[in-house]
Amino acid sequence: MKILQLTWAELADEFKIRYGKGKYHATAVYREVYKNGNLDFSHVDEFSKSQKLAGKIQSDLVLNPGLVIEEQKDKRLVKFITRLADGLEIESVIIPMATHNTLCVSSQVGCRMGCTFCETGRLGLLRNLAVEEIVGQLYTARFFLGSPIKNIVFMGMGEPFDNFDNVIQAIRVMNDPRGLDIAHSHITLSTAGRIDGIRKLGSLNWPRLNLAVSLNAPNDRLRSKIMPLNRAVPMDKLKESLMAYPLKKSGTFFIEYVLIKGLNDSHEHALELADFLKPLPVRLNLIPYNPLSDSQFKAPSDQDVHRFSGWLEQETIFVRKRWSKGRSVMAGCGQLGNKSELKQKFQNYKTHANTN
Ligand code: SF4
Repeated sequence: MKILQLTWAELADEFKIRYGKGKYHATAVYREVYKNGNLDFSHVDEFSKSQKLAGKIQSDLVLNPGLVIEEQKDKRLVKFITRLADGLEIESVIIPMATHNTLCVSSQVGCRMGCTFCETGRLGLLRNLAVEEIVGQLYTARFFLGSPIKNIVFMGMGEPFDNFDNVIQAIRVMNDPRGLDIAHSHITLSTAGRIDGIRKLGSLNWPRLNLAVSLNAPNDRLRSKIMPLNRAVPMDKLKESLMAYPLKKSGTFFIEYVLIKGLNDSHEHALELADFLKPLPVRLNLIPYNPLSDSQFKAPSDQDVHRFSGWLEQETIFVRKRWSKGRSVMAGCGQLGNKSELKQKFQNYKTHANTN
């Protein structure tokens, strides 16, 4: 019984089937595991008269969020690497905010989208993460690393809509008020532009969940060059799907724009971008490019970033400059998956998979 993939209601159903017991004991177990990080039910009130049941449940429950094998810190930011049951590794980042922390989670091991400015894209895709491996990152951050996480952003390794069903179930578990209790308004799903995923998300009618689009270019020519997905789904199709999305009243989309020196940072680019965005309710997050290990691209200067955002603001686009935290541990945007050993392991795994 993998509790990290179950909502409270699903656990209660499972209890009914397995033990002939339902909500009373499921509520206690869910609370202990998710609110208190406690896996020993022998001293829990609800089990004071049913110690045998407590023992049985304890031995049936599987809680395996993976093993944290490395933590790297840059001031208060923490990047941690988790080894999964099959030996593959994923990265997650705890980003400190003023009063709470945000956790950037991975949804896949690697990514098949191939964005040229992104370390994860260079790795290729190995597999989707299971629900418990996605939720496990939050469980680890809260209970093993002791971090008060209040926000979740799906901006780690992977394209979340490529693993739609597992990501959605993980959000259901994270959101369960009897457990991890992360409100939809504190969760952001970021896509490179999978419009089928945008449509499916819209049909769930979760108006408070935040949707971010990683745009990074003002026109199809440039976007197709750095984000191969754009060749199949050009920007007008992406815009159409956003226009049709059932956003809550006065809600906005988050648009991510990684600013790369000499590539997408000219005045003309800013005007084109503003033109594309104007019909949409958006907030634009401007992220200075983080130089990768052996990158063909260059980081902009602070002055370049201010100038580009100024041009957009003149066009009445709301811009937030996101000075990338965590550069020194390669935890900034687009840098997950950089570690050379991780790359080597991916290579070995792929070679092994191809010869079997
Ligand atoms: S930017 Fe996102 S979608 Fe593109 S390769 Fe990287 S992880 Fe995948």
